[in-house]
Amino acid sequence: MFPMLTRFLNSGQQTTRAARYIGQGFVITLSHANRLPVTIQYPYEKLITSERFRGRIHFEFDKCIACEVCVRVCPIDLPVVDWKLQTDIRKKRLLNYSIDFGICIFCGNCVEYCPTNCLSMSEEYELSTYNRHELNYNQISLGRLPVSIIEDYTIRTIFSNLPQLNNL
Ligand code: SF4
Ligand code: SF4
Repeated sequence: MFPMLTRFLNSGQQTTRAARYIGQGFVITLSHANRLPVTIQYPYEKLITSERFRGRIHFEFDKCIACEVCVRVCPIDLPVVDWKLQTDIRKKRLLNYSIDFGICIFCGNCVEYCPTNCLSMSEEYELSTYNRHELNYNQISLGRLPVSIIEDYTIRTIFSNLPQLNNL
């Protein structure tokens, strides 16, 4: 008689626990009901990058004094500064400048320490290519002004003012 009663009580407790778990699940589901969707339909929708975003580096050839500080502060000695000394005016003349974005870790050291501010980090992040050698940007590619996401009429920009998106 007693074992049967114990089994009956146990099954009752299990049913109560299961009902409580289902209730908790429903409460969590309902708490998501009034939240806005966080999915971005890339590439038709894009988030506006934060002010400190470190994207493709922009380079201004005319401002560069070929001091090679950017090479010394780069953790992987990446920027290639090709210059020649003009003996008549005892000054370096910049010939070529390149950064390979296939290797760059976008740490921003070169931008931070450049004495003439000729380097800056843009908001451009779509650098993918089928050939890794195309990621080696010379001064012409580096000098190209980045396309602002806001000015691109083909996409919808999303302000990341939602708390869920700010945590991305
Ligand atoms: S630190 Fe700036 S000025 Fe000096 S070589 Fe690099 S880019 Fe040019
Ligand atoms: S961002 Fe960093 S890794 Fe890339 S070139 Fe500048 S210093 Fe080097």
